[in-house]
Amino acid sequence: MCVTIALSPITDSYRPWDYRTRTITLPDTLPAEHRLRVVRAVLAELAVPQTESGARCWCGAAVELPRIPQRTRRTTGMVISHGA
Ligand SMILES: [Zn+2]
Repeated sequence: MCVTIALSPITDSYRPWDYRTRTITLPDTLPAEHRLRVVRAVLAELAVPQTESGARCWCGAAVELPRIPQRTRRTTGMVISHGA
């Protein structure tokens, strides 16, 4: 089971981490250059060892972040999952 990275507007039900779906949700207002750092921080909180660069899932795979151009992104959000 692997982590899913999602982007979402901050709402009353916003959760940075949902253990049921294993989804890390980033605020959609978070600048792209900060997303990796936040994902790493959340994973570290979950006791997943992080390497020098990039973010690592607990299975050891590199975590891919959603890449949404600022000018063309939609407000519906986007989810990228990786692994099996
Ligand atoms: Zn994984």
